[in-house]
Amino acid sequence: MENIIAIDLGGTVVKVGLLRNGEIIECIHLNSRLSIGFVSNLPRIKEAIDSILARQHIEPAQLDGIGLAFPGLVDPNKGKVISTNEKYDDACEYDLNAWIEQNWNVPFCIDNDARLAVLGEWQQGAARGKRNVVMMTIGTGIGTGVIIDGNVLYGQHYQAGSLGGHFVIDYKGRSCTCGNKGCVEAMASSFFLPVIIREHPQLSDSFKQLADKMNFKEIFGLAATGDKDALLLRNECMDIWSAAIVTYIHAYDPEIVVLGGGIMNSADVIIPYIKERVARYAWCPSSEVQIITAQLSENAALHGLCYCLNQKKKLL
Ligand SMILES: [Zn+2]
Repeated sequence: MENIIAIDLGGTVVKVGLLRNGEIIECIHLNSRLSIGFVSNLPRIKEAIDSILARQHIEPAQLDGIGLAFPGLVDPNKGKVISTNEKYDDACEYDLNAWIEQNWNVPFCIDNDARLAVLGEWQQGAARGKRNVVMMTIGTGIGTGVIIDGNVLYGQHYQAGSLGGHFVIDYKGRSCTCGNKGCVEAMASSFFLPVIIREHPQLSDSFKQLADKMNFKEIFGLAATGDKDALLLRNECMDIWSAAIVTYIHAYDPEIVVLGGGIMNSADVIIPYIKERVARYAWCPSSEVQIITAQLSENAALHGLCYCLNQKKKLL
């Protein structure tokens, strides 16, 4: 029997789950406390891990490993966060290997959260059996992960495939948190929605007054009722996501693009729309690239960690 603890350190929710033989047995959701930084969040995470182990009658020695999905650039070989973007910035200085060793003394793995999501979908979800996969997760920000020729894409600095949210679609566009301008994330993500709405030249004043309360769920709901402002905004965001996906197809040549994130509750609107744009604009003469919805919903990264720890075990 294999027991692992998988932690997904999201910008809104921190998930701490116990997986047994790849199945989620228990998962605790903590509210993310971004403002207190990374290190100050660790005692809450430790408490959650220990409470799960106690409830499930598992001794640390019986644990096969602990994995962490992190929203930033990570060196998985050293088990270290190497770069952040306004989320848990103090993580780069922290020795996570020592934290794991002192508290549980089990194998540890860490990787970028969106890369782990594509790993999860590739191993256990929508992209099973495929060799070339791109996943785009539209959450608070926009994350991507890539599998090429049956291998996870890392690159020289462990950032290949991870920065799809920061591909520039408008070089004169809005300033992004990463320091660049006109990134996909700055032009069409939940994080930027209030400013996108306020700065939009065509939206009505009454709609702009609701800017701080708007999220994509609300916008897709309003658009379905025929609200003109919501329709305009919804379609513009889908155009931006489509443009990004066309660029991913040009960059990575996948056979399948998996779309994840809470927004995919509106997959019935999003998938046909993006398919039509991709068919029109992607330069991909040999065959059609499949565009499909993720299957593991919010738990893809937890399943990805399961795969990483297993790979690590094989190397030990
Ligand atoms: Zn950016």
